[in-house]
Amino acid sequence: MGMSISAMWNNKCPRCREGDLFVKPFKVGDPLAMPKYCKVCDKDFEPEPGYYFGAMFLSYAISTFLLLPTALLLVFYYNWSVEGAMVMVIFLGAVLFLKILRVSRSLWIHIMVRYNPSYKKT
Ligand SMILES: [Zn+2]
Repeated sequence: MGMSISAMWNNKCPRCREGDLFVKPFKVGDPLAMPKYCKVCDKDFEPEPGYYFGAMFLSYAISTFLLLPTALLLVFYYNWSVEGAMVMVIFLGAVLFLKILRVSRSLWIHIMVRYNPSYKKT
């Protein structure tokens, strides 16, 4: 299927893998701000309103897959108290929150849009 994990992880445009998916530099008030179009290949990043609605479910899934095993490991392997493990998981979740949100959006658009190195000709 030719999806690039590194382009996805680094929040690059799925079509050209060069342009940035998110506005740089990082805006504290609006960390998920995205340019309307890719600066490099002119791909529109929000083809329709609510395009990233599904990305929300991805972020839930990713958070659960990361945090649930962590909590179970802490409690059952390292004998942490359930309360201690919860605090740790909430802390981790807070630290990873933004990265997970961005990667979910990135993954979403990478699933939908194919890499096309010849975009410049079309
Ligand atoms: Zn692009």
